[in-house]
Amino acid sequence: MFKSIINLFFPPVCSGCHSLLISNENVICTLCRHNLPLTNHHINPENEAVKKFYGRIPVEYASALLYFHKKGIVQELIHNLKYKGQEEIGTVLGEWYAEELKNLAIIKSVDQIIPVPLHKRKLRERGYNQVTNFGLALSKNLNLDYNNSVLFRKIYSKTQSKKNLLHRSDGIDTTFDVSFTEKDHNKHFLLIDDVITTGSTLEACSHALLRIPGAKISVVCMAMAHS
Ligand SMILES: [Zn+2]
Repeated sequence: MFKSIINLFFPPVCSGCHSLLISNENVICTLCRHNLPLTNHHINPENEAVKKFYGRIPVEYASALLYFHKKGIVQELIHNLKYKGQEEIGTVLGEWYAEELKNLAIIKSVDQIIPVPLHKRKLRERGYNQVTNFGLALSKNLNLDYNNSVLFRKIYSKTQSKKNLLHRSDGIDTTFDVSFTEKDHNKHFLLIDDVITTGSTLEACSHALLRIPGAKISVVCMAMAHS
């Protein structure tokens, strides 16, 4: 009742194209869903997300659901998710991707889903981590634990842009760190993020996680930059 009154004054619009949603549509309209550029990475073990990390970090598995093009629907979705409070986009993409990933043997070997963390000050400013709902939907639908405490961001940067992402001293990236005990040893961690661009954020997170004895890393993202 309350929701239908809200909908009367603020009818829900598609997060991709802003057209009015009809009753059976949720967050993203049918047309946008059909037009989303799927990577199909999950059916190709040697996909471009895996290749992105060649020689950088040893990944068991890597993939992204969508291609990210400048000015495209995916850019609009990610922008609305990150800056417009539309957290439900993460849930929709997580539920979608869980359906694709659920039969992969390598995913069944994952112990925990780990979100790329925001610095706690950034988290306060934004009010939420944009990958949380994506991770929780994957966690629920793939029946995997969600752990947002083992990996944390030590260094605050205003934009977290590529330029000031890496704070190196003696060649060691100190942006991220881990807090763990013996029970965290020998785990397969599935790192999740919104968009893979250069891969340097995920690389830095992986280096931190690999300080845990016996750690294995996989990566799953909502989207991957594509030229
Ligand atoms: Zn749409």
